[in-house]
Amino acid sequence: MRIMKFGAIAFADALRVRDTIRIIKEQHAKDPSVVVVCSALPGITDALLRAARAAAHGGEQEADVARRELWNRHRQIAEKLVTDEWEREMLFQRLAEQLKQLDRMTRAMATLGEYSARGIDAIASLGERFAALIIAVILRQSGVAAQMIDATELIVTDAHFGVARPYLDESFTKISERLLPMLQAGIIPVVTGYTGATRNGVVTTLGRGGGDYTAALIGAAVNATEVCLWTDVDGILTADPKIVPDAKPLPELSYAEAAEMATLSGSEILHLRTLMPLATRCIPLRIANVHSPEQPGTLVTALPTPTHASGAIISTRGLALIAASSSSLPTYEEAWTAELAATVTARLSHAGIETLLAHQSELDRTLMVIVRQPDATYTKEIFEQSFGKDYNVTLHSTVALVSIISAAHGTVLPSLAMYALGRAQINHIASSRSLHGAYVSFVLPDESVASAVQILHSDLGFAST
Ligand code: ASP
Ligand code: MG
Repeated sequence: MRIMKFGAIAFADALRVRDTIRIIKEQHAKDPSVVVVCSALPGITDALLRAARAAAHGGEQEADVARRELWNRHRQIAEKLVTDEWEREMLFQRLAEQLKQLDRMTRAMATLGEYSARGIDAIASLGERFAALIIAVILRQSGVAAQMIDATELIVTDAHFGVARPYLDESFTKISERLLPMLQAGIIPVVTGYTGATRNGVVTTLGRGGGDYTAALIGAAVNATEVCLWTDVDGILTADPKIVPDAKPLPELSYAEAAEMATLSGSEILHLRTLMPLATRCIPLRIANVHSPEQPGTLVTALPTPTHASGAIISTRGLALIAASSSSLPTYEEAWTAELAATVTARLSHAGIETLLAHQSELDRTLMVIVRQPDATYTKEIFEQSFGKDYNVTLHSTVALVSIISAAHGTVLPSLAMYALGRAQINHIASSRSLHGAYVSFVLPDESVASAVQILHSDLGFAST
């Protein structure tokens, strides 16, 4: 039993969809027990979220834009790939019903002018529904039995809209009951990623990029042989190929190594929650490339075959640094305490802001955090509210995090990396390392990222692996 999850890129246009269908059919020919999990088309979730947020502020124009996007992009694909007139008519009818629902929801939100997390999730989930509907039809057209399944039937979550948490036992029961009979009958379930529903059937979403999590949950529930995330890169690479063109894919990784990479990359590569259900059941996770399906990609497994290339450089851009510091001698009330720093980081976490790195120093009375750029202004506000007048709060809005993971280098990794950066006269703003030395992270000004990654990649020997 295999779970194949396709990211947005796999549905970019009719040509890509045709390739994706071929990948599914090839897998199905080898092993007919296949579950397909779909993301929305590229940019569709963003358009829907924009529409929903604008509606919450009374604006309906964004909803028109999203509706046009949804309709045009899916219609273009269907017109090219769904040749059976009856199937196409039925599909268009179902898409039109969904569009009506989008209209009803955005209008209701705009009329009330009220921000409703529940309404936003209902709207955001439409992108996956459109994609799964159309993929199921195209699969049937190409001669395979396939049926669209809404994940609201499979994944039971709490009511934490936007980042709902699934109830695992209930979800696993529903998934097995619904999908196993289909698989036994040779039907491919085409499931909407990213979505679920509360016990009362209210639609929820699992957070951005949540389609991978859906695939992992289904894989865990049916005890799959493998869960494969189909992306547009050859797996996890030794560095960002846009910066280092000869970066190489890592053939195999352990769950623990993948978990480190997930955390250090700020979940850009993989999300920890995707790994967890699979790691506890030893279900292999593969990351493969839709553009080169014959390549093996990266396999995350319990017992990876030892290979030379087990390290990687992960660069995450689009980050901001917020710091509070005090240069003057503080008054008694303003003295630095660990509690003050703890309160601020707790407030950030309650506000749903993920800090990718935090650093405090009693010696020079500073607290510094790295967050994603969209969270920067709000983080600064929290800092300003929390620190007194003796403190100076600053915002550096374009920084990046470069992390190196390499068990092979052992405890000298941080010094080697520091030496490489120093030799190239690249200054870092802050750094952090693991106790055992297996990784080290540097906060750098955004403009030094490319040269830093290139130098580290060659000096630390990743290029030759
Ligand atoms: N479509 C959703 C997003 O853009 C979920 C996913 O792609 O996994 O975040
Ligand atoms: Mg993704």
